[in-house]
Amino acid sequence: MSVRLDEARAALRKTFGYDDFRPGQAEVIGAVLDGADVFAVMPTGSGKSMTYQLPALIEDGLTLVVSPLIALMHDQVQQMRGFGIEAATLNSSVPEATSRETWRKIRSGELRLLFVSPERLLMEGCIEALGGSGVRRLAVDEAHCVSQWGHDFRPEYREIARAREALGNVQTLALTATADAATRVEIAERLFPAGRDLRSFVHSFDRPNIRLTFSPKDNPTRQIERFLKGRRAESGIIYCSSRKRTEQLAESLKGDGFNALPYHAGLDQGTRMKNQDTFLQEDGVVMTATVAFGMGINKPDVRFVCHADMPNNVEGYYQEIGRAGRDGLPADTLTLYGLDDMALRRRQIDEKEVPDERRRVERRKLEAMIALCEGATCRRQSLLGYFGEASQPCGRCDLCRGGVTLIDGTVAAQKILSAIVRTGQRFGAAYVCDVVHGKESEQIRRNGHGQLKTFGVGADKPVAAWRAILRQLFAAGAVAENTDGYGGLTMTEKGEAILFGREPVQLRPDPEPKAETRERRRGPAAREDGALALSEADEALFQHLRGLRATIARSESIAAFMVFPDRTLIEMAKGKPVDLWALRSVHGVGERKREAYGERFVAAIAEFLAHPPAA
Ligand code: ADP
Ligand code: ZN
Repeated sequence: MSVRLDEARAALRKTFGYDDFRPGQAEVIGAVLDGADVFAVMPTGSGKSMTYQLPALIEDGLTLVVSPLIALMHDQVQQMRGFGIEAATLNSSVPEATSRETWRKIRSGELRLLFVSPERLLMEGCIEALGGSGVRRLAVDEAHCVSQWGHDFRPEYREIARAREALGNVQTLALTATADAATRVEIAERLFPAGRDLRSFVHSFDRPNIRLTFSPKDNPTRQIERFLKGRRAESGIIYCSSRKRTEQLAESLKGDGFNALPYHAGLDQGTRMKNQDTFLQEDGVVMTATVAFGMGINKPDVRFVCHADMPNNVEGYYQEIGRAGRDGLPADTLTLYGLDDMALRRRQIDEKEVPDERRRVERRKLEAMIALCEGATCRRQSLLGYFGEASQPCGRCDLCRGGVTLIDGTVAAQKILSAIVRTGQRFGAAYVCDVVHGKESEQIRRNGHGQLKTFGVGADKPVAAWRAILRQLFAAGAVAENTDGYGGLTMTEKGEAILFGREPVQLRPDPEPKAETRERRRGPAAREDGALALSEADEALFQHLRGLRATIARSESIAAFMVFPDRTLIEMAKGKPVDLWALRSVHGVGERKREAYGERFVAAIAEFLAHPPAA
């Protein structure tokens, strides 16, 4: 192990208070310290930022960090300052005087980390000014934004290479958490100078502390409420596909006593920032948000992520659930999906004004997402497989625990397909299922469809079971939306093959109405895994310390986790350090934080031990 890496490890302990590198960090940091160009694909929460933070800390010179979202740079800067590292950001919302001070620190060589958006970097004069000030290294965060094969293409990212050249082709790092093979190739081509020592690291995408659960939509609001049971003190995100839904859901959760806030691009800037700050700074806030929320959010103690609607693609899904459990403690996810989601996404892609090639890419990505939802084998294995990683069944996802064995569903499928054809291929899912089940609605009577031969052929199954079958046929491409724009369903060629017995079809067994009760008894992941498990007395101390943390965070206007993360408070509650010396060995207590907060925490612990609250 090189001397430089030892030095980095010492700084990791002293400044950040972390025991050791996380898996993968040491190799990447070693390569950075060797001066090589580095491309690292590592999962969210693996500590990618540390791979430029530590080198910037132990070496002189400025590291320029390009990242896509201005709103979140402020946070990163605060976090670095919390550790005692000179960091700043340049953007239009920074007051003039602060900018002047930043430029002074850049010129004097005091500044170690400068966060900028690509737009800002490319603004007139910026590179020239930086060029003269000795930028040592360029770190490109969320590097997949450069690739049109990725799921989050940002044209400005294409200009970063030009900036790199103008800065004298400085050492370059590219970091991302989500990139399939095609995206990786494009990132390497677009960001790095040719012919230089480029070292690539692709680390496991597995996030073993995140539990994966999927569920077909049945009554989404109720399903979400059930999922949230017992989680009132936890921070979490619920992703919704529409702005309106984020607001409705926040309202309904508030009614249930949750501290829920909406977030979407249609809210005015002030409200948006305020809600985001509350989420970051306080404990136990539930954010109901569109996917506009979360990129670059580095709150480590998000305990759950729920998708109220099916995610757009597997990359997005992985990135969104990846915002949970960055502190390595157990976190839970729930993804709801339905035929409506699938239909909507397919339509959106069809209607998008993009080149055909792009459309094909998006379609393929959507189909992979649908396959993950309708899968019959381990979710984690399928998810990792999507990113090219082989793995064993995880034993903890809904499918590993509940397991489904697909059964031959050809006859059931034929009943549905026949109903679609006989009603003229122009009705939606609800109508078709009613016909099969034999429920004569007003509309069915009016259309005379009660007389059809197919009417009631499926009286043996509840309507919900027929809906589940129809959804799977839709997912499998046997049924599609027709083009009239009213959501009517039509049979595809594949459907025809099934209807006429040329092709069999495998389906999930009928939904078991009691499945949810079983789920509830198991309780949230946190309690089951025991990693957060504290005895009752320690739990009380933990809550007491959380209170102190909240007070400090509010008075300094910073996020609670920037004072100390949950894991630190848990270790304090268990270990009960009552002097600064004992505090040294606690996770997450570096030099600067020990100085700033140490006294207050050990005093609070001593006080708590001397006067335990009456039970
Ligand atoms: P990423 O960018 O890969 O998603 P971050 O760099 O934001 O992840 O790191 C996630 C959290 O883990 C941060 O709070 C960070 O301070 C913490 N962290 C990073 N490296 C370590 C380490 N070696 N030991 C403990 N915690 C770490
Ligand atoms: Zn599994």
